[in-house]
Amino acid sequence: MSVTVLKIISIKPDFMPTQSVVKQIEVYLNNIFPIEKKVYEFTDDIEFIDPGSNFEKINCNLCGKNIDIDTWQEEMDTAFEKDFSELSFTTSCCQRENNLNDLEYLGPAGFAKFVINIADSKRDISNDELTALEQILGVKVRKIWAHY
Ligand SMILES: [Zn+2]
Repeated sequence: MSVTVLKIISIKPDFMPTQSVVKQIEVYLNNIFPIEKKVYEFTDDIEFIDPGSNFEKINCNLCGKNIDIDTWQEEMDTAFEKDFSELSFTTSCCQRENNLNDLEYLGPAGFAKFVINIADSKRDISNDELTALEQILGVKVRKIWAHY
């Protein structure tokens, strides 16, 4: 059985909301997604939040070139040795300082310690709703549609 999960993460990998902010997020999401099961994940270390089978490829956000998966995996292994606390690296495509979190993941992916999971969402979250979430959280967010 396949599962689709709408995940929302901060664009800042080490972002962690306060308890009162989480309460406000819960109230807001229970209002706009009343039926869906929502799970709030908090981890000690930064984790890579992937889109499951929605993963197609990765492009360099600086030059637009496709990033070879083996090259990316090597950078991921290096970053993982430091529990993803250091995500910067030099691109082999354009020899520039870059960050694993800034790459163009198709479908979207990212790094986070705090993840909002909305399971089997019946609909997409609108840009206005994402903006409202950003206002509550006080940080920009990224939307990830994960399929497993
Ligand atoms: Zn590049």
